[in-house]
Amino acid sequence: MDEKLEAVFWNVQQRNPGEVEFIQSVKEVLASIGPVLAKYPKFAEQKIIERICEPERQIIFRVPWQDDRGEVQINRGYRVQFNSALGPYKGGLRFHPSVNLSIIKFLGFEQTFKNALTGMPIGGGKGGSDFDPKGRSDDEVMRFCQSFMTELSRHLGEYTDVPAGDIGVGKREIGYLFGQYKRISNRYESGVLTGKGLSFGGALVRTEATGYGLGYFVREMLAARGESFEGKTCVVSGAGNVAIYAIEKVEQLGGRVVACSDSCGVIIDEQGIDLPTLKQIKEVDRAPIEKYTEIRKKSQYQRGGNLWNIKCDVALPCATQNELTGRDASTLIRNGCQVVAEGANMPTTPEGIKRFIDAGVAYAPGKAANAGGVATSALEMQQNASRDAWSFEFTDRKLAQIMKDIHDRCLETADEFGVPGNYALGANIEGFMRVAEAMQSLGLI
Ligand code: NDP
Repeated sequence: MDEKLEAVFWNVQQRNPGEVEFIQSVKEVLASIGPVLAKYPKFAEQKIIERICEPERQIIFRVPWQDDRGEVQINRGYRVQFNSALGPYKGGLRFHPSVNLSIIKFLGFEQTFKNALTGMPIGGGKGGSDFDPKGRSDDEVMRFCQSFMTELSRHLGEYTDVPAGDIGVGKREIGYLFGQYKRISNRYESGVLTGKGLSFGGALVRTEATGYGLGYFVREMLAARGESFEGKTCVVSGAGNVAIYAIEKVEQLGGRVVACSDSCGVIIDEQGIDLPTLKQIKEVDRAPIEKYTEIRKKSQYQRGGNLWNIKCDVALPCATQNELTGRDASTLIRNGCQVVAEGANMPTTPEGIKRFIDAGVAYAPGKAANAGGVATSALEMQQNASRDAWSFEFTDRKLAQIMKDIHDRCLETADEFGVPGNYALGANIEGFMRVAEAMQSLGLI
């Protein structure tokens, strides 16, 4: 890391003790942008990097609610409004017991550069709660969402901060959150949340967008190597929103997904994952993935298994942060994997990234490869602002073009800075430059 950046990083560590994930994400970006400072020393003089690493606002609040037995439960809510140089804060809400300030800050930091890469007018933010929706009734989830939004609503607005979903937050949760926002504000402000249901201002393709966008991005990565999905074997971690629609797109583009996973285990189906079965289990029944083997008799289930041990040409981590380690990367490389693209945020550890890049595996970071979700959220905001509703095909075409543009820009930037084919550096430099230039223009804020 550049000497000046070392000092900034040391300071970030001192100011954010114990925030492991946040510090990891800052380090990854700072380690990439040395060449930018050499070319544009003004960014250092104006302390743009120090400012970028400090969220504009961090909100932590109590979320009291009553469970079905009438017992009072207390959770903690977060919203980190990281950077609004490019537009209103934009980024999802995560409901998962592991949520803490460090995780929300790392996600908000990553989101800032991801949103910049889309080329759309959106700043970066992230939020959530340590609430676990698993095993809760619809009524409990609704009461939690209402309490969460009662506090969060005062910090939102279509020109201020526009949340969406993430782990544990899908259409059901967004519906309850929007309902409570509408009730409190007495405004039908569709543009205040994205990922909404179609009956109340949602956009076609938003549900599929992150996974589809990932598929389009990988198509471009393969094309850049003179290849295609045709005949390629893929594995996808997770079985949630991103994973399901990544599987769907890979299959549409000619690839075969032979394995996926959830937080309990891995399923392997050599004939290709059967999507209607997977959707029924995870989207409708909200059941463990193990149930898949009851319906697809030739598939196998490995409780607590490691997905990355399965031989594949393309690996798509789509579950959660730090799920793919250095050792997993070595296994994938040994088994002939050629392309790794992240549907999840920061799923590959720093050691894993290093091993992929050293081995010449095409590796795309989440901030580029999973940007299709937030880009389509921005398209949802456009439709809400113009009271319009675009067709599936029209929005999908736009998504594919956005992903191609992000892909090409990452490669061009990597070339420009002397690291051809390095998507990670290309994405970090390009995202950083866009945010830094806007911050410079806006003065000392
Ligand atoms: P979901 O809640 O829909 O699905 C998450 C999936 O990952 C589930 O199958 C879950 O298992 C599994 N999972 C979660 N935590 C763990 C863990 N600790 N170990 C193993 N498996 C785990 O979330 P999304 O699909 O929306 O999000 C997945 C990732 O994609 C996250 O990193 C998110 O930040 C990122 N992302 C999401 C976007 C979106 O539009 N939704 C946009 C961009 C990035 P189980 O089913 O057992 O709970």
